[in-house]
Amino acid sequence: MNTAMTAEHVLYDAQTIRDRVRAAGVVGAGGAGFPAHVKLQAQVDTFLVNAAECEPMLKVDQQLMAVQAARLVRGVQYAMTATGANAGIIALKEKYQKAINALTPLLPANIRLHILPDVYPAGDEVLTIWMATGRRVPPAALPVSVGVVVNNVQTVLNIARAVEQQYPVTRRTLTVNGAVARPLTLSVPIGMSLREVLTLAGGATVDDPGFINGGPMMGGLITSLDTPVSKTTGGLLVLPKSHALIQRRMQDERTVLSVAKTVCEQCRLCTDLCPRHLIGHELSPHLLVRAVNYQQAATPQLLLTALTCSECNVCESVACPVGISPMRINRMLKRELRALNHRYEGPLNPEDEMAKYRLIPVKRLITKLGLSDWYHDAPLSEADYTTDETTLLLRQHIGASAIPCVQKGERVVRGQCVADVPEGALGAPVHASIDGLVSEITGQSITVIRG
Ligand code: SF4
Ligand code: SF4
Repeated sequence: MNTAMTAEHVLYDAQTIRDRVRAAGVVGAGGAGFPAHVKLQAQVDTFLVNAAECEPMLKVDQQLMAVQAARLVRGVQYAMTATGANAGIIALKEKYQKAINALTPLLPANIRLHILPDVYPAGDEVLTIWMATGRRVPPAALPVSVGVVVNNVQTVLNIARAVEQQYPVTRRTLTVNGAVARPLTLSVPIGMSLREVLTLAGGATVDDPGFINGGPMMGGLITSLDTPVSKTTGGLLVLPKSHALIQRRMQDERTVLSVAKTVCEQCRLCTDLCPRHLIGHELSPHLLVRAVNYQQAATPQLLLTALTCSECNVCESVACPVGISPMRINRMLKRELRALNHRYEGPLNPEDEMAKYRLIPVKRLITKLGLSDWYHDAPLSEADYTTDETTLLLRQHIGASAIPCVQKGERVVRGQCVADVPEGALGAPVHASIDGLVSEITGQSITVIRG
């Protein structure tokens, strides 16, 4: 047991931890951007670090854990103090050996590692909780309903920095992988353009590249490299525009619907491999495809199950033999249902006894996705990359947009709060990531230029 660290973390009480995490603008770095201080208000018995990182091309968490193991463990302790949790779990994969070696000697008695199988989507938090604790989160419920709060690695590292140094979130670590000259994992100021990030990776190595924000399974298409890095940018994946992963994302909704109507053979493979269905959720993508194709087959309850889809993409990229995307159909349904304020309520069925064997081995996934030629290690760079211009989005989180608290022409320093959300509103403040001058303020962003 590492008593030194246990003694250190008790210096901060739960409210101080939450206050510092809020002031630092920490949000869920795993994609959703849920304000971390709000999550830390929940009272649970278990705090779980989701360190699965099962998107095949992303290499951030596994490398950060190896070089910042002590900070990660302290971050877990702060989160446990804030949430009242008496157990901490860091769920990661056996292949992250350097991280396991670095973490193991630092673990106090109440924090353990959980070794996940190398399958996709082990990092879907509902699946991670199931694998690491045996508890199943009911459909449409939050992890707190089973006594767990989950954060990913970068979020927990940001929590530790916020608590110990009152250091705001001004940088983001991301992997640039695929068709680039120098695949790497690097830390850049928030607000740097993806164009500059691509240059740091040596530029694209194909004539007509396409770009994905994040991993090949859940990442979204990037339509402009002027897009700035945000607190939730997953990574930059570069592939030839002709690659199926880019082409699928470029397909418009009308085409998605018409392919589904023309060729769905109701084989139900999408349901047999749907991770949420496998752990006992009512969600059955083949029934949703049928419901959309033949609307007389749609009951209100059936349509509402679309709200429980995690958009893991297994049904589109792995299961369907004829190129249909039940996930995209679910996304369209979700949009309509949410606009009408509909909510899903439904049973938690018994889990499929084959569930553990139906998740997708990551090696097979890389081949299936046509990524073998584009897969690289993307080593972590220690360089302190910076930029002369940042575009700070006012909404890098779930909740209300942050409201600028600086004026055009004002000089700001790195770490200074430039926008905040009103007291009591869901959201997180935004901070300058370089020293400079506020050159522009719009409804969406604040631009800071060095000088
Ligand atoms: S896997 Fe494809 S063809 Fe089979 S039921 Fe699902 S959408 Fe239809
Ligand atoms: S994306 Fe497809 S496989 Fe994944 S949860 Fe949704 S319906 Fe299931």
